[in-house]
Amino acid sequence: MSNSTRSLRESSYDIGPCDSTQTSSIADQLRAVKDREICMVDYRNCSVLQCMTCNTVLGDSLGICGELQRLQSIICLNVTEDVRVNKKLEMSLNSHLASSTYQVLHCAGCHGTIGLVLHSTPEHLSALRNLFLLRKELINWWE
Ligand SMILES: [Zn+2]
Repeated sequence: MSNSTRSLRESSYDIGPCDSTQTSSIADQLRAVKDREICMVDYRNCSVLQCMTCNTVLGDSLGICGELQRLQSIICLNVTEDVRVNKKLEMSLNSHLASSTYQVLHCAGCHGTIGLVLHSTPEHLSALRNLFLLRKELINWWE
C-alpha cells in the first residue's frame, strides 16, 4: 500500500516545465540583469533571421529574447536546425565575456561563423548560459 502511494508521488515530480514556461522564465532572468548587460529589444516585428552570406533562415521572432549590446548580438532561445553548434569548447579571450567558455555557431549553408553559445560563465552572465547569441553584423533580419 505504501509502495503505490510513493510511486504516485514520484511520478508527479516527473512533470517538467513546458516550453512556454521556459521562455518566460528566461525572459525574466534576462530582465533581472538588463541594467548591467542586456538590452531587452522588442523584436516581435522581426519575423525572420537570415545568414547575411547565404540567406539561410537561422531563426524567427518567437525565439528571440533580446539583445546583448556589448557583443552586438541578438539573444535567441530557439534557432533553426541550420544553425550548427561546433562541438569544440573554446575559452573566451573577449573581455566582455570574461572567462567564459563557449561553442561557436556555424551556418549550415555557407559554414560561416554566425555567433556562439555560452557554456560556462561568471555569475553576472549566468542568465545567458545555453542561449544562442547571433552576431548582428553577420545576419539579416526582416519585418
Ligand atoms: Zn550562411
